[in-house]
Amino acid sequence: MSTEASSAGEELPDPQQELADLGAALAAHARRAAQRGVARARSVEAPAKAEVQAPVQLPAAVEACRACPLGSLRARSVCADGTGQAGVLFVGNAPGAEDEARALPFAGRAGQLLTDIIEKGMGLRREQVAITHRLKCRPPDDRAPLPEEAQACAPWLEQQIQQLQPRVLVALGAEAGNQLLGSNSSLDQLRGRVHVHAGAKVIVTFHPEHLLRVPEDKKECWKDIQLAMRELGLPVARK
Ligand code: SF4
Repeated sequence: MSTEASSAGEELPDPQQELADLGAALAAHARRAAQRGVARARSVEAPAKAEVQAPVQLPAAVEACRACPLGSLRARSVCADGTGQAGVLFVGNAPGAEDEARALPFAGRAGQLLTDIIEKGMGLRREQVAITHRLKCRPPDDRAPLPEEAQACAPWLEQQIQQLQPRVLVALGAEAGNQLLGSNSSLDQLRGRVHVHAGAKVIVTFHPEHLLRVPEDKKECWKDIQLAMRELGLPVARK
């Protein structure tokens, strides 16, 4: 879910073309990395099926949560996806309609773009990372979360971070970044630096929904993702 309003009457880009463009750019990056003979880090080798776990799942406790009014308004809670085995946790803002319908964070178009970033860009499988939102319940009409709702839900995210112990947190959007860092800064102020929260490196980048509306920012997002890849010890093509 995005917290940035679309311009009235602005036509959304063709999602298939957008994903194809991003996929081509990321595939080119992967080819360049391979040509330079960069070995993939052992720590992110694909897990055997039996190793796949879900360490950031809190479904029963969160489903019972009524710490803010959203607990009575949502159809169901949305906790997390992935194992986090690669040492990275992506944090979005709040579930959207498709997330809620499937009880899965980043289940819609923005989620497909995030999957492409993870798989075509970072060279990981989606199930190797962990993905969540800072809020576990969908606000009505997909409105922006209220500060008191975010404050009430923050302990769930902190519990997930404690369970997973990620080396890197990638905050998708200024809202997630500011919550993790206890700041009140713009995305421009948060991007391009490595922050720290709960022992994890924090990198802040654009929300995928923003990238669907403003594809020109994908290049900047890719710089942030490369920063996260360096912190994870993943191969990054040299310029
Ligand atoms: S949004 Fe968070 S704090 Fe509010 S009811 Fe849902 S799980 Fe509880």
